[in-house]
Amino acid sequence: MKYDCVIIGAGLSGLAAGIRLAHYNKKVCICEQHSRIGGLNSYYNRGGHSLETGLHAMTNFAGRGASKSQPLLKLLRQLRIPYEALQPREQNFSEVRFPGKTLRFDNNFAAFESSVADNFPEQADNFRRLDNDIMAWDEVNLSNPFLSARARVAGFISDPVLTDMLFCPLMYYGSAIEDDMDYSQFVIMYKSIFKEGFFRPGGSGIRSLLDILQARFLESGGELQLKCAVKKIISRNGRAAEIQTSDGEIIECSDILSTAGAPETRQLCDTRDDKFGVNPGLLAFMEVIAIPGGQSAELGNATIIFFNDSPAFKFRNPPEMIDASSGVICFPFNFKFEPGDIIPERAVRTTVMANNAAWFNLSQEDYAPRKHEAIATVLQKTEAITGIKNLNNESVFIDAFTPKTVQRYTGRINGAIYGSPVKFKTGKTNLDHLYLAGTDQGFLGITGAILSGISIANLYLLE
Ligand SMILES: Cc1cc2nc3c(=O)[nH]c(=O)nc-3n(C[C@H](O)[C@H](O)[C@H](O)COP(=O)(O)OP(=O)(O)OC[C@H]3O[C@@H](n4cnc5c(N)ncnc54)[C@H](O)[C@@H]3O)c2cc1C
Repeated sequence: MKYDCVIIGAGLSGLAAGIRLAHYNKKVCICEQHSRIGGLNSYYNRGGHSLETGLHAMTNFAGRGASKSQPLLKLLRQLRIPYEALQPREQNFSEVRFPGKTLRFDNNFAAFESSVADNFPEQADNFRRLDNDIMAWDEVNLSNPFLSARARVAGFISDPVLTDMLFCPLMYYGSAIEDDMDYSQFVIMYKSIFKEGFFRPGGSGIRSLLDILQARFLESGGELQLKCAVKKIISRNGRAAEIQTSDGEIIECSDILSTAGAPETRQLCDTRDDKFGVNPGLLAFMEVIAIPGGQSAELGNATIIFFNDSPAFKFRNPPEMIDASSGVICFPFNFKFEPGDIIPERAVRTTVMANNAAWFNLSQEDYAPRKHEAIATVLQKTEAITGIKNLNNESVFIDAFTPKTVQRYTGRINGAIYGSPVKFKTGKTNLDHLYLAGTDQGFLGITGAILSGISIANLYLLE
């Protein structure tokens, strides 16, 4: 069997790349190790509840009449998916809560601008100047060198609290680097979150999006193999030529596109004399999902709350099992739903930073008790930030994942959702005809992963 391209991974980047190739009649096969597509973004049923793993919200909302250059409209066009099929449902509003200050934003940037001016009147002009700098930046130029976003932002904003409040959501939704970001990535995330805003696919959320992508791929002639882990990338004369699957099957192909991550892909290569992918990411998270019993009225209307209650916001691998001093609280049922949508369960999802090594080093006996302790800490913090009562004691359902869970289901080393701190923006590796897309190519999040798959397919695989 010979393919034009084998794609490793049926996450969002792999599916998007596969659709582009199939549209152009390339013989393409996606190999996915799991029994279900979606990767980090998926869904599951447990205890009679239907839950999502990745999606808090999609970024980059664009209304039907928005400029055609908006990322969301661009990606729909590239994948030939009609806007109506996605049925984007906008967020109600979201907040960044720090001690004594709350910035509120929705999908209308003017509201965010006034919130910044109300909370930090003396910074209003500085913020406008920063916004001008951001809007003039060419963030998608793949040859931009690393530039510290902290240093660049300090040239405009002189209040450290406002600086941290701007960084908090952008880091939580798109940084593989501790306590700083590459300025281009900062600009991408700023536009994605503050300028364009959050939405959720209508219908049944991530499940609807995955169904649309899978159908588009298969009806365009692509092949999808589930429960098919790639075990080896075989090269000949410095050129990737074949893959070997967990069944021992050898599949010959002209190109290989890996979405498994850079260090993960490097482990699959039969040559190691290379420089790519040597830095697995360190930043990992714990998420606790709680369905409160009988107190729905208290859950409020916010879609997402980014919080920090320590004197200085930290975005780094914590010394303890988890660091609940900052995090993200998501209410997946607080979007502007329309008739016919399946409204998600009234679950409260709280994500905080977790020390990956501490979780991986636990003995089997210690894992469950430490997980329960961490769940209680996260839920108590959620209660303190939101005012929701008895989340810890009276929820009808509680589930949680740790860095170990993420690694087990997606193969991401250290459970590092945002992958390696070193990104491979060109998508090229040391081996000819082996390319990277998705998280370690450098476009993070759901929209980022889809755009990454499309860009790398267009750049190299459709030539
Ligand atoms: C709790 C959580 C909340 C999140 N919230 C948001 C959010 O609200 N908004 C947002 O935009 N983003 C969010 N994200 C991030 C987003 O989910 C990811 O950035 C995005 O899905 C990454 O897609 P990807 O295709 O790059 O990688 P992945 O989803 O990791 O896909 C890679 C695929 O490759 C497969 N694979 C790996 N190795 C092999 C192998 N050897 N053989 C075969 N298959 C292999 C994996 O099983 C996986 O399916 C969240 C993530 C998590 C975990």
